[in-house]
Amino acid sequence: MAQKILIIGAGIIGSILAWRLANAGCKVTLIDPSDTGGTASAVSLGWTNATYENPRFYYDLRLFSMTRWDAIKAAHPDLPYTRNGTLYTSFYGIPLDTVFAEHSTWGYPFQWADTAELQSLEPNLAALPERGLLCDIEGHVAPHHAAKFFRTQAIKTGAEFIKPHATSLIRKGDAIIGANTDQGPLTADITLLAAGTETATLAATANLDVPLTAPAGLLIHTKPAPRLITRTILTEDLHMAQWPDGSISAGGDFGGGAVNDDPIKGSEILFERLKNTLKSEHPLEFSHHTLGLRPTPKDGFPIIGSPTKGLYLTVMHSGATLAPAVGELVTTEITTGQRDPLLSAFHPDRFAPH
Ligand SMILES: Cc1cc2nc3c(=O)[nH]c(=O)nc-3n(C[C@H](O)[C@H](O)[C@H](O)COP(=O)(O)OP(=O)(O)OC[C@H]3O[C@@H](n4cnc5c(N)ncnc54)[C@H](O)[C@@H]3O)c2cc1C
Repeated sequence: MAQKILIIGAGIIGSILAWRLANAGCKVTLIDPSDTGGTASAVSLGWTNATYENPRFYYDLRLFSMTRWDAIKAAHPDLPYTRNGTLYTSFYGIPLDTVFAEHSTWGYPFQWADTAELQSLEPNLAALPERGLLCDIEGHVAPHHAAKFFRTQAIKTGAEFIKPHATSLIRKGDAIIGANTDQGPLTADITLLAAGTETATLAATANLDVPLTAPAGLLIHTKPAPRLITRTILTEDLHMAQWPDGSISAGGDFGGGAVNDDPIKGSEILFERLKNTLKSEHPLEFSHHTLGLRPTPKDGFPIIGSPTKGLYLTVMHSGATLAPAVGELVTTEITTGQRDPLLSAFHPDRFAPH
């Protein structure tokens, strides 16, 4: 009989899992009172990369996921993902030579470009460095649009998407057998928590500790502008990308930091930086800011795995990059019992007291 899976949370992670698991023959119920992507997917920069916060095991998972974004895009051209590449003129205080050396040893396709080449590639950058790093396999995705796309595929494949809010997990002996919701209990063979920053609160209702932090992430968004940049661009004090509608999103710090403390003041600072960074014939117009929360496990790395019978956890930062890998590898583990070595470092047991 088909495994019955209850997925709590329809951000990019829960939505791709609903699709993949339904596709693998599971009977999937995805629940979320919102369909806009919670505190993260709706307000994310969506840069897909394998370069940030990088021991080898984390790099490997992200690199694998980037290849899977390409594969899904090849099969579904309307997926809101583009492999537009990245230009690094700086990398958060780490010398570019160091970033290049480490990742090139691992085979990451970085290329140096001099000022003249950068000028031809990104002519609207106001100040060009003597050299920058290019990476053509990195990309950009709108996580809440991708989540919607995955939900649509999931529903077409037989998954059910309903709107209850989960209030607690239901425990029977050692096992989790479902969740109570504001519309009554839902039972399942496996309850999959993909609730982003809310994962810890729900797990705590079954006396399970999921050590999570939720650093704020401020982004500013301009009104649509003529195309000014093609790649995701990292400068000394800004990371930015331009969406298909022409609007530009920009942030200043991946790990929280000063611009997040006062979002109004922070937005003004970021917008000034953006105007100084880009040359534009028409003045850029500020649209709004967003203040997201990054679902970040305490050691910085994804939590992916089953801490107890009947429950599976998927919570992470860099979920925009990792969604395809999580969708594919978690589905394999749940449906076959085989855990891919790429997931070895990410089991929740690493936090268990020894
Ligand atoms: C400012 C910012 C910039 C970022 N930039 C990048 C980037 O460039 N690259 C990258 O890879 N990652 C980036 N991230 C991280 C990435 O966006 C997240 O890792 C990813 O979106 C997490 O997705 P999720 O589905 O796990 O969580 P969420 O998007 O938070 O979704 C969780 C869902 O669970 C639902 N939910 C919560 N509680 C309950 C409940 N009790 N019952 C039912 N449903 C519930 C919520 O409504 C929500 O829809 C960024 C994040 C932020 C905030």
